Amino acid sequence: MKKTILLAALVINGLTSFAQSNDEKNIKLFYKKALTEAKCYTWLEYLSNDIGARLSGSPSAAQAVQYTKTQLESLGLDKVYLQEVMVPHWVRGEKETAYILDGKVKTVVPICALGASVATPKTGITAEVIEVQSIKELNELGEKVRGKIVFYNRPMNPENIGTFDSYSEAGDQRRIGAKEAAKFGAVGTLVRSLNLRLDDFPHAGNQSYGDLPKAQYIPCAAISTNGAELLSKTLKSNPGLKFYFKQSCETLPDVLSYNVIGELTGTVTPENIMVVGGHLDSWDLADGSHDDGAGVVQSMEVVRILKNLNYKPKNTIRVVLFMNEENGGKGGAKYEEVSKQKNENHIFALESDSGGFTPRGFSIEADDANFKKLQGYKDLFEPYLVHNFTKGHAGSDIEHLTSKTIVKAGLQPDSQRYFDYHHAANDKFDAINKRELELGAATMTSLIYLVDQNGITLPASN
Ligand SMILES: [Zn+2]
Repeated sequence: MKKTILLAALVINGLTSFAQSNDEKNIKLFYKKALTEAKCYTWLEYLSNDIGARLSGSPSAAQAVQYTKTQLESLGLDKVYLQEVMVPHWVRGEKETAYILDGKVKTVVPICALGASVATPKTGITAEVIEVQSIKELNELGEKVRGKIVFYNRPMNPENIGTFDSYSEAGDQRRIGAKEAAKFGAVGTLVRSLNLRLDDFPHAGNQSYGDLPKAQYIPCAAISTNGAELLSKTLKSNPGLKFYFKQSCETLPDVLSYNVIGELTGTVTPENIMVVGGHLDSWDLADGSHDDGAGVVQSMEVVRILKNLNYKPKNTIRVVLFMNEENGGKGGAKYEEVSKQKNENHIFALESDSGGFTPRGFSIEADDANFKKLQGYKDLFEPYLVHNFTKGHAGSDIEHLTSKTIVKAGLQPDSQRYFDYHHAANDKFDAINKRELELGAATMTSLIYLVDQNGITLPASN
């Protein structure tokens, strides 16, 4: 083991002259380190199984802050600190109940309240249901939905190969469905879970009433895909059926929470900051091992590997574990706010928030010159079957960063199974494969290293 570390230090220190071949050697070393001695899987086991679900404002979210801070401190980084941020505090309350009333036949179906939803009256709501496929269809129905439950049932499109595309195409039903239906006097909304397969898990997620007056807020819930299929089928034979649901969620006052930050200070241009991160909060139905426990521990692994190899970064490498991505984005916004106050200069940000599956590439937000530059690294990643370098959304937490010269990337793991788990009660530690998680961490370490070594291309005017 000692021999490996010594060789590593030699390879890394002798970087400049034989750049290409040293890059290959160093990347090989990062993958070896990740696959043989990484801590990310053990960290995730603790975060998932000992701490559990980490919705913003919950005691377990606070525990996760302390745990990750302690673990970062144990790595011997140059700085580890907490950054205060006020976060929303929504609680689910009692487990929801729901059933279809088809004449005298009562069939229970799995639902979960959507984030920021209001409760139903204590006795629940019973009403007729109108099924729609889109907000456009709702608008055409207009006043016809008054007094009824609007049921959004447009499935995620199975034809897209990138499942995140299907998620964004179907997402409006969940995000603004309740707000839009309330305008026409609907008494509640149900939305088909954003899940490509048929199963019994309702999938949580945030929604917003926008600028609707509070008195007009209506309760909204997600229904499992099997539940949605059954409801739709039963509606065809009995359009007058009734649906009952009861939920007791509420929004409490905001709570003080934290982003967790660790730093390896740059040795050449410490004023240039590179961020690597994920989000520490999760939904409340499970421990969020994929979303985003994986991204948190992979980001921690990046700095662990670099520190362990005694790597001296040119730029400051900062691991940021953002709070409150799921239901507010306050952590990302606060990080940017503080960074602006301090006049910090970010050159690069890498986020992992697409699950802990086999890494396939990066989703890149950059101008053409920098996109080309990152694409130039593709050959170095091909031996690891990481080859998908595309332009696209990099990550919700780093979305807030606005430094003029910043280049952003998101780790892109294989996305085929992600929405089987996303925001649902089965997003648990046993859904994580150790090697896949480690390969992701090595992939991230390699990109951070390459950008640190080679910098980014500044616009011509600079
Ligand atoms: Zn996430």
